[in-house]
Amino acid sequence: MFLALYTNIESMKRFMLTNSASIVLNFISLLAIYVFIYGFYFRKLSPFFRKEYRYISHLQFGAIGGILGSITVVLTAGYTFGHFYNLEAVAMELRTYFVFIALCGGGWISGLVTWVCIAAMRWIVDGSIIYFLQVNSIDMIVIVFTLIVLRMDLSRTLKWVIMTLGAAVLQSGLFIFRGMAIREAMIYFLATMVVSFVVFCFLFYVIQAAQMFIYFKENAMQDYLTKLDNVRALHAKIVHLVKRLRYQEDKQYVVVLADIDHFKRVNDTFGHAAGDEVLKQFAGLLAHYCPKDDIVARMGGEEFCMILSANLAEGERLAERLRADVEHNPFILPSGSSVQVTVSFGLSIGDRGSVQKVNDMYNVIDEADKALYMSKAKGRNKVTVYRKDETMDD
Ligand code: GH3
Ligand code: MG
Ligand code: MG
Repeated sequence: MFLALYTNIESMKRFMLTNSASIVLNFISLLAIYVFIYGFYFRKLSPFFRKEYRYISHLQFGAIGGILGSITVVLTAGYTFGHFYNLEAVAMELRTYFVFIALCGGGWISGLVTWVCIAAMRWIVDGSIIYFLQVNSIDMIVIVFTLIVLRMDLSRTLKWVIMTLGAAVLQSGLFIFRGMAIREAMIYFLATMVVSFVVFCFLFYVIQAAQMFIYFKENAMQDYLTKLDNVRALHAKIVHLVKRLRYQEDKQYVVVLADIDHFKRVNDTFGHAAGDEVLKQFAGLLAHYCPKDDIVARMGGEEFCMILSANLAEGERLAERLRADVEHNPFILPSGSSVQVTVSFGLSIGDRGSVQKVNDMYNVIDEADKALYMSKAKGRNKVTVYRKDETMDD
């Protein structure tokens, strides 16, 4: 934004004399820099940057930026600062945006690769890397400085003061370094302050909005108490799993339902907060036992669901280990009191033959629920496997 400010003022001075290219230039530069800064905050939100959608590596992303940037260097070789405001100059500026976009899209590695490619090309084309280094490195320094301050644990106002002052000092310092008169540099200094005030206010607003968006998104899919998947996330994962099952010849999935026994008594004896703590600790235990790529969710209350990529015997072993673990290791509350509970389990199995639609998976869950009910009926603290055509009283 400071480069943009710089070009803005330069262009304002020549505005009456020059063509619309400078407006285009300024518009693009501002846009690129906004995209760059916000990119760091929206990176997590944008599907492009999520692992499952990323088709190219950081290095490749950076290399593409480097190639495009290098092409603009070759095309615009020979244009120097004095000829800045014409269409070729707009093209020349594009190389900076490739660095921004690479940084924004691929992170530090991509940005660095693009930057190195362009700098090298600049050097090959006319042997002068100095100007490129001066302009680009000051932008990078200001941007890195801004990002570091943004991540610091300071109050918003203090951050704004540090960022604004720091950026203005860095920026006008460079201009002085490049031979600008002190008086003129002071004007840049003040102008930078004004622009960064507006930009950072806006930036903070956008960050806040992004944080809220992430917060609501996470809460929509996550159980607030245990941080496990909630039913909505469970449903999404079931849909995904059923789709995958169509291509998995011999795959089996075990549904393991767990329900804490007489949980009402925990609440009645130790209080609701203690009940919450037990739920949290039990959820942690389930997550610990659940293999990395398998599913564990809170169905509601003190009922949990695991869907494991395993056969029935493996699922039964895991449930039995969990059951024994809870039985023999009371939960210790922050207050120091220990709460002894037991858990009942119900299991059922689904495979490609029995699960073709999402509803079929819910039928498997219903079967596991019936088995769970049997565990309760048999006196609780039991693991029961659902068996079709049997009385299920093993
Ligand atoms: P059973 O052995 O038959 O499962 O008995 P139970 O008492 O565990 O079962 P029931 O379903 O009758 O009661 C569940 C209790 O769980 C009732 C409710 O107060 C409590 N509960 C549900 N959600 C929460 C929660 O988020 N926090 C706490 N502390 N308690 C909860
Ligand atoms: Mg219960
Ligand atoms: Mg219950």
